[in-house]
Amino acid sequence: MKKTLMLTIAVVFGLTLMMGGAPADVQAKTTFVTIGTGGITGVYYPTGGAIAKMVNAKREEYGIRATVESTGGSAFNVNAIMAGDLEFGVVQSDRQYQAYKGEEGSEWAGKPQPDLRAVFSIHPESVTLCASVDSGIKTVMDLKGKRVNLGNPGSGHLQNSKDTLKAVGLDPETDLKAEYIKAAEAPGLLQDGRIDAFFYTVGHPSGAFKEATAGKTKVMFVPIEGPGIDKLVADNSYYAKSFVPVADYPGAVNDADVPTFGVKATFCTSAAVPDEVVYAITKEVFDNFDTFKKLHPAYAVLTKEGMLEGLSAPIHPGAMKYYKEVGLK
Ligand code: GLU
Repeated sequence: MKKTLMLTIAVVFGLTLMMGGAPADVQAKTTFVTIGTGGITGVYYPTGGAIAKMVNAKREEYGIRATVESTGGSAFNVNAIMAGDLEFGVVQSDRQYQAYKGEEGSEWAGKPQPDLRAVFSIHPESVTLCASVDSGIKTVMDLKGKRVNLGNPGSGHLQNSKDTLKAVGLDPETDLKAEYIKAAEAPGLLQDGRIDAFFYTVGHPSGAFKEATAGKTKVMFVPIEGPGIDKLVADNSYYAKSFVPVADYPGAVNDADVPTFGVKATFCTSAAVPDEVVYAITKEVFDNFDTFKKLHPAYAVLTKEGMLEGLSAPIHPGAMKYYKEVGLK
């Protein structure tokens, strides 16, 4: 009798092990998160990679496994985070503002996203216009009648391109031959003479402009300035004056930095993402700030305090817990 009981216990115990009881427990502790970025020649993609790399190195401690996805960009990322398809995404600060508030004139007009949450801001991004020298484009007004890539639907920069054109009195639909292709394809098309210019809102240096300025076709960065642009920046709190650093692109014909305006890249999530996950990612980036800063030249200007600026959606409680702990809030 006693023997039978012992055997039963042993069998049950063995079965539990065989069915993977213990390994299942370990797996249950791993939270999988996906970070939405942008095209692979931008700065969002390596940014997502940098964050994922730091968090994954501490997988044992946090139980988080982060993967990075190349996406259409900011607007896509906001919508995918809100749909629960992505846990995190890199989002332009202007798109974050518009989505959270449901701003008139934006794609979220009448559809505010109250569950969008900010984690931190990252590098500055400049609205950058690059044209072939042969096109004769020297100002935004010169884009009239030209073939110009404004950006793919889902990108953050499509709206910046339209804002720029409207600010100087050009209609994006009728005054030029607008293209809506991905930023990763634009440099090749410019080099092949199939477009005259393209817009891209991105941190510098970026692979996209390295490629655009390194071919046989001579290209230049076109200044985005003048009274219309001044008014655009003055009227919108998310825009600030900026410039394209030409030292990053020796192949461009410009010999001085090129004035423009810009925004900030920000790291966003949803109110539905658990506090401990957001806390761990925030802590990892901020506790290892010097390591993080070295992961991309566009981060050279970052400060911890600056990374809490430019956020318009509420800060996620998991991130806020960390900021309070270290006295940043
Ligand atoms: N600012 C661009 C966007 O929101 C992406 C830039 C990048 O990938 O670095 O779509």
